[in-house]
Amino acid sequence: MHGLMMDTPLLISSLIRFADLNYPDREIVSVTADNPLHRYTYREAFARSRKLANALRKLGVEPGERVGTLAWNDYRHFELYYAISGSGMVCHTINPRLYPEQVSYIVNHAEDQYLFVDLLVMPLVEALWPTFKGVKGVVVLTNEASMPDSQIPNLMCYETLIADESDEFDWPEFDENTASALCYTSGTTGNPKGVLYSHRSTLLHAFAGGLPDVLGFSGHDTALMIVPMFHVNGWGIPFSSAIVGAKVVMPGPKMADGEVLAALMNTEQVTVASGVPTIWLALLAYLEASGEKIPSVQRVSVGGAACPRSIIEAFDQKHGITVHQGWGMTETSPLGTIFKVKPTMGELTKDELYDLQAKQGCGVFGIEMRITDENNEPLPWDGEAFGTLKVRGPWVIKDYFKLESVDNPLDEEGWFDTGDVATIDPHGVMQITDRTKDVIKSGGEWISSIDLENVAVGHPKVAEAAVIGRYHPKWTERPLLVVVLHENAELPKADMLAWFDGKVATWWKPNDVVVVDELPHTATGKVNKLGLREQFADYAFPDAD
Ligand code: AMP
Repeated sequence: MHGLMMDTPLLISSLIRFADLNYPDREIVSVTADNPLHRYTYREAFARSRKLANALRKLGVEPGERVGTLAWNDYRHFELYYAISGSGMVCHTINPRLYPEQVSYIVNHAEDQYLFVDLLVMPLVEALWPTFKGVKGVVVLTNEASMPDSQIPNLMCYETLIADESDEFDWPEFDENTASALCYTSGTTGNPKGVLYSHRSTLLHAFAGGLPDVLGFSGHDTALMIVPMFHVNGWGIPFSSAIVGAKVVMPGPKMADGEVLAALMNTEQVTVASGVPTIWLALLAYLEASGEKIPSVQRVSVGGAACPRSIIEAFDQKHGITVHQGWGMTETSPLGTIFKVKPTMGELTKDELYDLQAKQGCGVFGIEMRITDENNEPLPWDGEAFGTLKVRGPWVIKDYFKLESVDNPLDEEGWFDTGDVATIDPHGVMQITDRTKDVIKSGGEWISSIDLENVAVGHPKVAEAAVIGRYHPKWTERPLLVVVLHENAELPKADMLAWFDGKVATWWKPNDVVVVDELPHTATGKVNKLGLREQFADYAFPDAD
């Protein structure tokens, strides 16, 4: 027997209608290539989204077709999110920092009809234009005065495109499982694979994201969204904010500029900010050097890569800010876990709290997780057993775009294998110890490269660190630490290795340390371990003879 309640579909356009009526005067502030501080309201944002929806229709884009964006976080990207998905098309966000061949592959694989491109990304698109197979035109996200010279035949200006359109548009109603957005994973091997989100998955994810013990958004918050909108829907923040009417602040192309971030935090009275660990390193370094403070900020959410404990401590001790670490993937929309203190954890000392915050966090309702052994048997939540992390839930992928029935990402029981290795403690706090392919196996026992990296970056002279497993004749594999030091710093090997004493089990201590000028990175700013292993392919440990 069915319940007797309305089966109103969960659609992104319902957010526009709701926020437009309930929070018309809440502000959206952003930095763009053509404006250092653009400010307007939700009402104006949604009116312009409706103009854009009319323009997209005139361009002839059909429901279900993909429209690509190559853009930083700003108000025009926000309008694109809502207009494209709201009208039943698929908003395909593309990371402009990917290798050019990958951008070209992605645009062609997605069969993007039009590309909406930030002014600063135009040189890339100009160079790649001859490689695009079906793109009918490019819209530059700027005004007429700032339009670049270009050889691209059907080049349009965003402001001109929407200028004369009506701001009335009837958002269509359709099945909530209709595709809304597309984002490609940027693996270090093989071609990127597309994750196709639906309206339903996006809305359920936005509901969960806003909960008090998750990202905890309230209408009184001002959210600085540094996490890129081209990477997994900006963690769903454009949608979670609209549910509660939080003010949104976006740094445009300045997302790694500590000075601009601090200024935005202070002028806009930001209460909560979200970004990857590298961003926070840049901000903390700027605050340290300038002596500036950011008193309005209460919470910082961090994810995408392991957050070193040193970041958590610096935010707490120097700025009174609580760090919430979360874990997720493109395939999980991305929210999977986030740290929260549970009442059952009892009284925690600062040290115990920092240790917990440095883990990847607790389950969020909507995501089931488990860790399994080589035989796919679930492992206990005892904080000791390591296993493959598997998840399932309404905002987890079930198939990659256009790889259906070719590359099934689920196991026989319908769980998605994340490729991460983790422990889960009795409180349900999950800790990633490695990517499956990065695990170091020494004498048959696993060593967590992430734990070692976290300890290494805690050293005041270390700017960045990576640990990889290298061949060792006695132990099969042992950890090699590769570090980048702060400018002008010197650090003898013995001092670096002694830093691990008492911080990790003795047998986990790296066998050697190599100082390099820089580490290889992927397009999303993570250390490219595959590249690093290739770089050190011929390396032999000093104690290997
Ligand atoms: P992506 O799909 O590019 O967002 O990458 C997802 C991967 O990033 C995950 O499978 C993890 O390996 C890693 N990751 C995400 N968040 C964290 C975190 N808080 N700590 C450690 N690794 C993380």
